[in-house]
Amino acid sequence: MKTRDRLRIAMQKSGRLTEPALDLLKRCGLTFRQSRDKLFCFGEGEPVDLLLVRDDDIPGLIEQGVCDLGIVGRNVLDEFSLTAGIDGAPLKEWRPLGFGRCRLSVAVPQEMTYEGAASLGGQRIATSYPGLLGKWLRDAGVQAQVVTLAGSVEIAPKLGTADAICDLVQSGGTLVANQLREVDVLLESEAVLAGPATLPTDERGDMLELLFKRLDGVIQVSE
Ligand code: ATP
Ligand code: ZN
Repeated sequence: MKTRDRLRIAMQKSGRLTEPALDLLKRCGLTFRQSRDKLFCFGEGEPVDLLLVRDDDIPGLIEQGVCDLGIVGRNVLDEFSLTAGIDGAPLKEWRPLGFGRCRLSVAVPQEMTYEGAASLGGQRIATSYPGLLGKWLRDAGVQAQVVTLAGSVEIAPKLGTADAICDLVQSGGTLVANQLREVDVLLESEAVLAGPATLPTDERGDMLELLFKRLDGVIQVSE
């Protein structure tokens, strides 16, 4: 990969993490030329540019070296490390960012008896996180059928395509609306600053150092 002299940060183009991520970067003193409809946002003051993409693409872009850092949910980062990221360099969570908090949980129909992971033995569990769910089941020594769905996981039990689900939960309102009960938490998630395990030390190194220093100040203030 050709070296770059400007830092490139990937973030979600449109979604729950977009506004808080932009706000955080602003509080770090970074400003960008307005082109939010575009893929690329040019940094005005400092040599830092943004790439606006789907959150699911962020770990891959870091792994490929297209971006130096990314702002992404821990759920997406860990899922990538467990599934797609096997061949490439491992990614690292450099900082937790304190927004986009949610949890990855197992939920079952209201009436189903649940006495721990063993109750899921032989059941079909719908999820968009087959890597994280598979690992949790393996660690618990439970054999179950993981049904991977891209979205609308919470309706799978009602449709009869799964017996339980493993999905992101924030308030729990969606679960209640679908007559589901949260029974186990696999992962506590929030937005994180992700990057390669080894950060670049070329021209981008100084800017990285400055960014981390400002970020730590900003995070401390908001704690
Ligand atoms: P994209 O179009 O970028 O793929 P998306 O629909 O996958 O968007 P969002 O729903 O905007 O993504 O969620 C982005 C991240 O916000 C999640 O990966 C998760 O880390 C966090 N998050 C916080 N609360 C919730 C919640 N209740 N449901 C889903 N994600 C949540
Ligand atoms: Zn997504």
